[in-house]
Amino acid sequence: MTTKTSHVIEQTEKFGANNYHPLPIVISKAEGVWVEDPEGNKYMDMLSAYSAVNQGHRHPKIIQALKDQADRITLTSRAFHNDQLGPWYEKVAQLTGKDMVLPMNTGAEAVETAVKTARRWAYDVKGVVTDQAEIIVCEDNFHGRTMAAVSMSSSEEYKRGFGPMLPGIKVIPYGDLDALEAAITPNTAAFIIEPIQGEAGINIPEEGFLTKALQICKESNVLFVADEIQCGLGRSGKMFTCNWEQIEPDMYILGKALGGGVFPISCVAANKDILGVFNPGSHGSTFGGNPLACAVSIAALDVLIDEKLADRSLELGNYFQDKLREIKNPLIKEVRGMGLFIGVELHEEARPYCEKLKEEGLLCKETHDTVIRFAPPLTISKEDLDWAIEKVFNVLS
Ligand code: PLP
Repeated sequence: MTTKTSHVIEQTEKFGANNYHPLPIVISKAEGVWVEDPEGNKYMDMLSAYSAVNQGHRHPKIIQALKDQADRITLTSRAFHNDQLGPWYEKVAQLTGKDMVLPMNTGAEAVETAVKTARRWAYDVKGVVTDQAEIIVCEDNFHGRTMAAVSMSSSEEYKRGFGPMLPGIKVIPYGDLDALEAAITPNTAAFIIEPIQGEAGINIPEEGFLTKALQICKESNVLFVADEIQCGLGRSGKMFTCNWEQIEPDMYILGKALGGGVFPISCVAANKDILGVFNPGSHGSTFGGNPLACAVSIAALDVLIDEKLADRSLELGNYFQDKLREIKNPLIKEVRGMGLFIGVELHEEARPYCEKLKEEGLLCKETHDTVIRFAPPLTISKEDLDWAIEKVFNVLS
């Protein structure tokens, strides 16, 4: 029987480039933590669009901001000022504690911006010889899919067929301070790191690693750049994962939940001695800093702050992790997480278990083959979480 779901999947497979392998479900409606397919089946979203929907689907305050702004002005380009960009700059600067902010649209574009900032800073401020700047990154990182991002990747699959790669990239094992020290040369511009690796399977470095890595960078005049696109904005139980060690990275890269799952917006934030390297004409984006994105982002940040979603993530995340650790099944290798950013690593492929969870009404996605990532919207209620825990027990215990 042809259903709306089967028809849409057929269209998608026939006309769409084959660059994703989604679970066989079509989502046509959503509210809060719940999504619905065209046939009216309800599921709980435990992925939150890779943490872009930390505020829950269609949060009423964010949707209101979108509608209000759509009725006024949506795009000016940066050829002119718009009345939402200034307030948004100030808000993000205050939140990150940085002097300056540069808006883009997607996470990967913000990563590109970070790489460009670091390279120009290396030449203009640090005094590195032209075209010799180096960037250090970590094995199994995920910084996106643009050429700079895949050049930084250690995954052959992400790079195959896309060469030549960007030069000047050094890859070190995640969490390895000795390797970081050894990789630094007078030409090193930046160390770019996810404080928690999301796509790699919720990899958390040893406590104190970030602090020591920052110290090593400072001693060598190397920028410490925190890619908090996925782990930031409340996801790990603090506003930023760097807050766990009370460190101040030289630069934040933000995206995803910055737009509340409603409109794409990303940015880098840094102090003037770093982000001041740009001048008119050196970087930009037609849509970057557009008034619709800024109005939505202001509301998205207000929701994060007003509803104390980072605290909520911490409290419910601890509760969820404790429950997951109660499951005694030799299939489970490890439960790890911070806040509601949780990975359950199995001794075998995770995908069949994600498919079983879907049958139970719970949507999550395997990552790095053997890890089930649980990352619900941070607005999830305790009752809904208990419902989810019951389903997880049905499948995993
Ligand atoms: N950096 C990190 C840490 C991410 O998790 C992602 C996306 O998953 C990106 C960068 C890329 O963001 P986008 O998909 O918006 O380009």
